[in-house]
Amino acid sequence: MQKLILLIFITLLGCKRDNQVYLCNGPQSKVYHKTNHCQGLINCSTEIEATDLNAAKGKYRKACGYCYHY
Ligand SMILES: [Zn+2]
Repeated sequence: MQKLILLIFITLLGCKRDNQVYLCNGPQSKVYHKTNHCQGLINCSTEIEATDLNAAKGKYRKACGYCYHY
């Protein structure tokens, strides 16, 4: 039973990591990125901030065109 709880916990942690996105804190930045080595972040003049997807959507709303292909 304890092993099952541990397994669920690890799965939840894994999901949380999948939702991690990266933001440039510069005033021109309006997108969030899937990876912190995206070409859209090369010109970022400030620190790159790691956050989760929901927080990023609340701040910037748009997904990076390089990271997210439709
Ligand atoms: Zn990107």
